[in-house]
Formats: sequence, structure tokens, C-alpha cells
Amino acid sequence: MTPYMHLYVLASGSKGNAAVVAGPEGSLLIDCGISRKALHERADEAGCDLSDVRAILVTHEHGDHTAGLRVICNHFDGPVFATAGTATGRKGLVQLPFTLIDHDEVLELCGMRVQAFPTSHDVNDPMCFRFEVRGQDELGDDQVLDAIGWATDTGYLTDEALDALYGCRILGLEANHDKRMLETGPYPYYLKTRIASASGHLDTETVIALHISQENNRPSLAVRALAESVGATAANDTFTEARTSDGLLSICAGAQDRPLAVW
Ligand SMILES: [Zn+2]
Ligand SMILES: [Zn+2]
Repeated sequence: MTPYMHLYVLASGSKGNAAVVAGPEGSLLIDCGISRKALHERADEAGCDLSDVRAILVTHEHGDHTAGLRVICNHFDGPVFATAGTATGRKGLVQLPFTLIDHDEVLELCGMRVQAFPTSHDVNDPMCFRFEVRGQDELGDDQVLDAIGWATDTGYLTDEALDALYGCRILGLEANHDKRMLETGPYPYYLKTRIASASGHLDTETVIALHISQENNRPSLAVRALAESVGATAANDTFTEARTSDGLLSICAGAQDRPLAVW
């Protein structure tokens, strides 16, 4: 797949989350659980231009995803999308100028098709997203040119999530808990059957372990578990390249204090 989009994981973990998906006609901010100052610092460090952000997508109301939203909204004119459950799920959020959407809505934003899907989490109505750039191939047929999947804060991957994450070039996956959860959870099965060998060729280039708990997990364990799930051994603790029958798969970990840029 040609990279039409880029992903910046500006903060990931139980102390604050924020990410930017940069598309052909602007960027989208996913969640803001860190301060505006920290957001700008991380973006600068990652080479991500926040002045391109046209809309904000809020996955759910937990403070590690919304703590910075109020201040951000004071400096932002674009739409802030959330489900009604999220918008009313926390006292501090009710005054914010949300544009309400359903957890399975499709939006057209910044030259991207944004597909929301429900996640499984202990909040009102959480969702995550697939980002897609579509266009015509040489024969004039409509096709997916690039896709990014984002599934964080979910106990398991719903059927809607599995469908939405299919064939994504870049995949951010919840890895909050311990290695045993990754080993016995949906990821190994998912990676093996739905990504690594899905349609006979590997679409996914990069998998990012997201939202890693500081108490219950370590980046090294998450990276290792994801690598093992596709039959590879992690070469080091925070980044590895797994060779599969279809090519190389990069596996890395989003961090609490260090931004990550995936092109
Ligand atoms: Zn949460
Ligand atoms: Zn969270």
C-alpha cells in the first residue's frame, strides 16, 4: 500500500493519550488526555504540524483521553466528535461543543473515510476508528489506497472492530494488560488469521502496542507477545521487525512520554 496517511502517537498509556492521523487534506486528533502544552511539545518532537488538525475524535470519557480537551477546545474551531454517551459521561465534558455521532457512523474528513466502530470498555458508549483513503486504480476501479486502524481501550475486539481493522497498513492495538492477556486474548488469533495470512498477502506494515499499563505491563512484553503471535522473536525490547511469509512486519510500542511517528 502507498502511504497516503501518517500516524503520530503523541502519548499512549494510562496517564494520557493523544494521537494524530495526518491525511491528504488535513489531520485529525484522536483524544487529548494530556495538557495542551505537552501536546504541542510532543507534536514538535515528532514533526507533526498541529495547525493541520481539522477535527477531534474522542473515543470515550476517561480522563486519560479527555483531560486536555477543555483547554484544547478553547483554541479550536473545528468539530469535536463523540458519542452521546461519551459527551455526557463525565462532568467536566458536558459544556464542551461536541458534534454527536453514533459508534458505527462513517465520516468524510480531510480526504479520509473515517469508520467508527464500538469497543468493549467500562464506559457509556466507547468507539474507535478505521481511517481510509480511497481512490481509483489504473483500471478506474474504486479501491482502498491506504488504511490505518486504531483500537485502544477495549477488552476484546468486537466483530465490528475485526471487520474495520482488516487490511490496515498501520494498526494500533490495545495492549494495556499483561503478557498473558496478549497471549490468550484475541490478538494472536487476530494477527495470524486476519492480518498475517488474511488474503494471501500482508497488508499490514506496522503494528503498535497502545495504552501500555505502567503497573501491569511493559513495552518489551507487549512487543514480544505481538511478535510471538506472528511466529517471530523480538530482537530488542521496544521495536522489532517480524519476518512473515509475506514480508517484514514492524512491531513497536506507543509510549507515555515519547512520541512515535509512523509513516
Ligand atoms: Zn479508558
Ligand atoms: Zn485509556
